[in-house]
Amino acid sequence: VEQGVAIELAEDGTIVEVRPGRPDDGPLIDGVVVPGLVNAHVHLELSHLRRRVPGGRGFLPWLASLRSAEGGDPEAAGAAAARALAGSGTAWVHDVSNAGSTAPWLHEAGLRGVVHHELLGMDRHDLPARVALARSYDGTGDADVVVRPSPHALFSTAPELVVACVRGGPAGVPATIHVGEAEDEARFLADGTGPLADLLDALGRDWRGWTPPGTGPLEVLDALGVLGPGLLLVHGVRLGSAAIRLASTRGAPVCFCPRSNLHIGGRLPDVPAWMAAGVRCALGTDSVASNDDLDVLEEIPILARAFPAIPAARWLALVTHEGAGAVRAPGIGRIEVGARPGLVLLDVGRPEDVVRGRVDRTWLVRVG
Ligand SMILES: [Zn+2]
Repeated sequence: VEQGVAIELAEDGTIVEVRPGRPDDGPLIDGVVVPGLVNAHVHLELSHLRRRVPGGRGFLPWLASLRSAEGGDPEAAGAAAARALAGSGTAWVHDVSNAGSTAPWLHEAGLRGVVHHELLGMDRHDLPARVALARSYDGTGDADVVVRPSPHALFSTAPELVVACVRGGPAGVPATIHVGEAEDEARFLADGTGPLADLLDALGRDWRGWTPPGTGPLEVLDALGVLGPGLLLVHGVRLGSAAIRLASTRGAPVCFCPRSNLHIGGRLPDVPAWMAAGVRCALGTDSVASNDDLDVLEEIPILARAFPAIPAARWLALVTHEGAGAVRAPGIGRIEVGARPGLVLLDVGRPEDVVRGRVDRTWLVRVG
């Protein structure tokens, strides 16, 4: 972002011209102007559980705490969290919802993006009904908030349902899946044993008809024919170089949620390896059941400290144009003619200052 640039907008916020400033343009705005931010992974439904789910012991202990946690009113907390998300300068959000019903919260907050109706289940008896539900999404709906099906994870979702979810829904709107987050996922996929198998048994799930694929999670997705630009991989903490290469080869994007990963398991993904492999990257906050807030800009200081060789501009790209490309958000994340990204003023002297965190900001032009 340079000094002395003028951005002209149409009534609906579409950028019609970007040109050098002229003396009659009026006073310069002091600060750094960025397009509205992209938060590629949120669970608004868990907003009533802020600071109520302890972490630090790994995924399954966190999940057990989540299942027993109690908080306030999920409706009120979810709607308020959506407003806070918009207030933090977020334009585009990918929200994952078990009920598939959070679109009104996004609308009311002036957010745009995708609600992923998260489907899961390893039971055989009602699999046809869940596959039919995944296939029932036909892409009708409004342009600002699209609702589509997405699978939860490979250890919780029957392969037929994974495929039906990813292939269901409107064209050009990627599905999402949690992958490489749980410590025990690789073992479960390798031979169907371990703590995840024990959990399914403890929950009384009828999953024993499932055959362990015997490979890593990205190989499983690839064998199912769903690894590609239409599937956003979320977390990737426990994926190694072969998996990262496979994601790159297939053009699958990835979303990192570093503060959530640190809260739950105390470990970050190998972000530089994903970047070096040429994978399109985005950032997400995950939910406040594993994070302090839904401010995606606050993910940057954590990553910048952990990976100091990555320039600040690349971190900003992850929450703007690169993140928008990863989630295929049209007209978002770029200040260019024809885009409708929303414009946010960051109260910093230089773009590099975002790595310090706690950046004050104001909407200049709302996206919604
Ligand atoms: Zn998640």
